[in-house]
Amino acid sequence: MSVEAYMAQCLGDPEHGYYATRDPFGIAGDFVTAPEVSQMFGEIVGAWLVYAWDLAGAPSPVRLVELGPGRGTLMADILRVSARRPDFSAAISVHLVETSPVLRAKQAATLAASGHRADWHDSFANVLDGPILLVANEFFDALPIRQFIRLEGRWRERLIGIDGEGRLAFGLGPGFLDQGPEAPEGAIREVSPAGEALTAEIGRRIAAEGGAALIVDYGYLHGGPSETLQAVRGHAFTDPLATPGEADLTAHVDFAALVASAAGVGAAVHGPISQRQFLVSLGLLERAGRLGAAADEAARAEIRGAVERLAGANHMGELFRVLAITSPGLDPPPFGPSI
Ligand code: SAH
Repeated sequence: MSVEAYMAQCLGDPEHGYYATRDPFGIAGDFVTAPEVSQMFGEIVGAWLVYAWDLAGAPSPVRLVELGPGRGTLMADILRVSARRPDFSAAISVHLVETSPVLRAKQAATLAASGHRADWHDSFANVLDGPILLVANEFFDALPIRQFIRLEGRWRERLIGIDGEGRLAFGLGPGFLDQGPEAPEGAIREVSPAGEALTAEIGRRIAAEGGAALIVDYGYLHGGPSETLQAVRGHAFTDPLATPGEADLTAHVDFAALVASAAGVGAAVHGPISQRQFLVSLGLLERAGRLGAAADEAARAEIRGAVERLAGANHMGELFRVLAITSPGLDPPPFGPSI
């Protein structure tokens, strides 16, 4: 099978898939995401969404959409901070795109006190047309990728099968591709058809109906061909073929491909910029100072640690990037001029 089919089954199989069977987040789980590090992440994202809504002419009604909301923490923080703008709160309806029943239940519990009703959808295509404000944190890295290997001056698809001893192993597809960029012999190239198609759909909606989207993930912009498929279990890297359905499988996001997908359908694209630049430009340090002023020394140390994890160069600050997509003519801060 293709790497794409393997990844999709490992993560999404309704009975045995990784997300379908557990809540993977937090210290006891497999990994910790930015909204789980600190409320400051969701507060800043929420402030950006309200600002983008203002720039877009405050459309009402507007659908507030989150792709892959995990435990619902980011959406809860967005709703709490945006409640300071009653006109925004009155305009939004909340839409969560989530396939895992375990995580849907968790999201419902997290959002129960928010004062907003939420609707769940299996895919973004099921969210009805109209202006949207969309956010996706660590969602695109979970979308399946295809891998190709450069052999004899051409690209051949990498597949997964069973070796002579009955174990999962990488192998080669039957044919060569006629197209693709030049690369050294043995190079690996990844593409995400699902990620590109979804970004084009988001861009098409926003160009036609108005609104804005914020995509946050780890990935590369001008990386050469390389392999980024990885498996994480219990906060450690593991062999992607060793325990299918038991480890989180991800690939780094090709931001240049997402930019091209959204720009190609007529949306305005901003960035990507680093998560550090996004958060610090929008007031992370000031917010940390305000929270710290009301806290004791132990809590202050925790806030300092959260700033370091979210924005530090050795943590999420540089590896994670933020891409915004808006209707044409909008230039939301802190991005430079749009593409
Ligand atoms: N945004 C959250 C969680 C990121 S993990 C956070 O930052 O904490 C990825 C999330 O996407 C999980 O909620 C997972 O169940 C969901 N997911 C993964 N693939 C999906 C798909 N193809 N369709 C819908 N949801 C998906």
